[in-house]
Amino acid sequence: GWRSRAAFKLLEMDDRFHFIRPGSRVVDLGAAPGGWAQIAVKRGAAKVIGVDLLPVDPVPGAEIIEGDFMEADMPERLQAMLGGRADLVMSDMAPNTTGHAATDHIRIMALAENALDFALKILAEDGAFIAKVFQGGSEKDMLDLMKRNFTVVKHVKPPASRKESSELYVIATGFRGEP
Ligand code: SAM
Repeated sequence: GWRSRAAFKLLEMDDRFHFIRPGSRVVDLGAAPGGWAQIAVKRGAAKVIGVDLLPVDPVPGAEIIEGDFMEADMPERLQAMLGGRADLVMSDMAPNTTGHAATDHIRIMALAENALDFALKILAEDGAFIAKVFQGGSEKDMLDLMKRNFTVVKHVKPPASRKESSELYVIATGFRGEP
């Protein structure tokens, strides 16, 4: 079985959009407890590296880095482990919620923006980026940046995401590569 409820959200999104490609290199930001990494392996990714602040029980077929994805050497370290650039950067990261809606919103959007900056550094041409965002979707600056760098950008609410939660996912495909 899958380790997380979150796993079903990724399955539903990948069934529709097929961003986990056989033989691809995948970075999974916010990987604990490991559900998304399990799916990436199962769907045939050649390399799967998960990053989380929390420890993750070993996921057969994946490698795990325990740490903050924002550590300065992380893009280099990941590329070395992947043996090149990534085909998919997926982020299901969420901060610890404070219970204060506005603060939680700001924090989750900051994580998503940082995940995008990170993805722009390590994606290969034609790569894809997925991130958990909030409510109305990506903020304008983030959306503009994605539209400049990817050919298709859309927001989805997978059926497995609780209706009363304001989470959404942004899916950006067709990375244009470095100018
Ligand atoms: N997709 C995962 C799965 O299917 O098992 C669930 C991910 S969980 C909703 C979000 C994770 O993001 C948490 O484990 C949290 O520790 C992690 N996280 C939050 N901020 C992070 C950061 N700066 N660096 C790495 N991981 C982070």
